[in-house]
Amino acid sequence: MVLLGAPGSGKGTQGERLARRYGIPRLSTGDALRAAVAEGTPLGRQAQATMAAGGLVADELVASIVEQRLQQPDASAGFILDGFPRTTAQAALLDERLQTLGMAPVTHVVHLAVSHNEVMQRLLDRAGQQQRADDREDVILERMRIYQAQTQPLLAYYATQEKLVSVDGYGSLDVVESRIVAAL
Ligand code: AMP
Repeated sequence: MVLLGAPGSGKGTQGERLARRYGIPRLSTGDALRAAVAEGTPLGRQAQATMAAGGLVADELVASIVEQRLQQPDASAGFILDGFPRTTAQAALLDERLQTLGMAPVTHVVHLAVSHNEVMQRLLDRAGQQQRADDREDVILERMRIYQAQTQPLLAYYATQEKLVSVDGYGSLDVVESRIVAAL
């Protein structure tokens, strides 16, 4: 399963809930990259400046994180991807890697639909809590710009393949989760 949605749409939270519900792992490339930065690995050092500016880390770097994680035994029954793919090029890379690994293709793509104004408000609230280095207003605007320019085209990519379900992302965590479950 792939979760799509703007920064602040609730992908991470819903991804964790769905992972628990279905007993499959959630892989967040953002979490993996933040861990690499915190540990100061070569990957983290390569990604750090791009992430701090709200840009996209190179396709090959994120694709290799995903590829390694998908080879762990717990992903064999299914997995939830959160934050990858983010561009149509990454979606093509994902299809290719899954095929090479002999794994089933993506079956479900869930889009959490939340308006621009709502996600901006959520992200600015999160910025007040200062948990993430990229939750600063200028960086948030850049992440939103990149989402609209590069990630939104993925909606059409997966709609054409008849894999996309769009779910209203407003409301309590329980309400949004039950909408997703009903749509799958
Ligand atoms: P996230 O936690 O998904 O919002 O990701 C945080 C940051 O990590 C993004 O702003 C990017 O800099 C980087 N990142 C995460 N996933 C990807 C990806 N699939 N492709 C490129 N960069 C990514």
